This record gives sequence, structure tokens and C-alpha cells, in this order.
Amino acid sequence: MTHWPHGKRAAAAITFDMDADCLIHIAAEDGWRRQYPVSMGRYGPTVAIPRILETYRRLGLKQSFFIPGWCIETYPQAVEMILKDGHEIGCHGWIHENPLNRSPAEQSEDLDKCLDTFDRIVGQRPRGYRAPVYQVTNDTPRLLAEKGFVYDSSMMADDEPYIMECEGHTLVEVPPHWGIDDWPPFAHYEEIGYMMQVRGPTEGLAPFFEEFEIAVELGGLWHAVWHPFLTGRRARWYVVEKWLEDALDRGDIWFATLGEIADHTLARHAQGAVRVETLPYYTGRQV
Ligand SMILES: [Zn+2]
Repeated sequence: MTHWPHGKRAAAAITFDMDADCLIHIAAEDGWRRQYPVSMGRYGPTVAIPRILETYRRLGLKQSFFIPGWCIETYPQAVEMILKDGHEIGCHGWIHENPLNRSPAEQSEDLDKCLDTFDRIVGQRPRGYRAPVYQVTNDTPRLLAEKGFVYDSSMMADDEPYIMECEGHTLVEVPPHWGIDDWPPFAHYEEIGYMMQVRGPTEGLAPFFEEFEIAVELGGLWHAVWHPFLTGRRARWYVVEKWLEDALDRGDIWFATLGEIADHTLARHAQGAVRVETLPYYTGRQV
């Protein structure tokens, strides 16, 4: 007997980080001139998002998307489509700036800028955050809690959702890991230093589905971190769509948004049933 809602055996979530072309703007001063990587990124909000949403509509799925503030401003139509279908949108930095390169005050400003965009365009504040390139700093959990975030999804200290206690603040962590991130099998992006060997759709997606089978067998959470311009490409999404149909046919998986998973985790935390990590891990250099 597992703890998941509705007596389900396991939980699953596909999260899409809609980075679009902000990666090239942050990576290169002349990123705005580089039309090819801009076009590769634009594929996400313009072609992949409608495709993904169509599948979710047909299958009755509500899932989570993490979007940088700049992308929300630049691609409001994609955001509107995501919201219209009732999906969750979380915060993913302003323009994919690496928090390691930002002072605590600058991180705070970046988050405020994002929240302003959420207020104006999304119409509600985000409950969840995923740090660009997963780079949470010592200051990030405190800043998130102070600004009303309920959960983070960047840290990798467990397979299952856990609680982060940080300087008197509590955040849920819905942990990703590189085994369910589509960057390693599919990213080929010289301008930002990722030249991975691109896998075929079935081969590249197979490790994610193997992770899923084991999570289901053990009654845990499977949580994918994908990108519209990578896994939302036509042939890859075709394979995902067939897999999703089979996964839903089983009837024993709770497909949920990360917000729903965070709420479930908080409820279990109130019963003392969730593991707690205390942050920051270190307050100074260890060598
Ligand atoms: Zn990203």
C-alpha cells in the first residue's frame, strides 16, 4: 500500500522547461544576431507547445511548465494556451541567468521581476521554482520562501519529494536528476557548450521509461525534466505519446502537477512522514 492519492501505486509528472531562445541571449552578447539558435529555441513555444498541449488535451492530463520571465513576456500566446488548458506554470528565472553569477540582492531582484511578469501576464503567482541550470545557491531557498513559493524543483538529495528547512523557512523539494533530463540524450548546442551525441527517439527516451518502470515497481515518484525544443520535436514526441497512452491505460499511476505533488508532500510532512534536509549545507569553504 503506497501513500499516493486515490490508492495509486506510483506518481508521475512530466515537466517542461520552456527556455525557448533565452539560452542564446544569456550565453552570447551577440546572441540576438544568431538566427539559427534563436530559431531552434523558438521551436519550443511556437511548434512544440501546441503539439504537447494537444496530446495532454486528448489524454486528459494536467502537467507543469517552468518558464523564464523573459519567455513569458516574449511568447505570451504559448503561455495563454498553457493556462487555457489548466496547466501549472512555475518560475524558471528571468532569462535563464545562472544564480551562481548573481548576488543575493540580484537574485531577489530577478525573482521580483519574474513575479511582476506573473502578476501581469499569467494572472497568478507561481508556487514552484526551478533554478536555471539547477543552480540553487545558499540564498535561494530563503528568497523563495520569503517570496511565497511553496516548492522548489532543482535539488537532487533524494528520489522522492522531501522537505528543505532553511533558516526558519520550509520548502518542499520535488527533486529532478540527470537521468530523467532530456539534455544529455538530445541537446546539441555548440554555443552554450553542450555537444551531446544525439540519440534516436526510441534510444534517447528509453532510459526515462526504464526509470519510470522502476519508480512504479517501487511505488515512488517518476518526474521528467524535458524541454519543448528537444523532446517536443516531432519524432520524439510521437514516441512519448505512444508511451503515455500505455502508461495511462495501466490505471495505477497518479499523473499530477508538481504543485499537487508538493501539496501531497506537505500533508504527509504534517504527519511526520517526509524526510527533511536542513540547508544551507555549508557556510564556508571546506578546504
Ligand atoms: Zn532551463
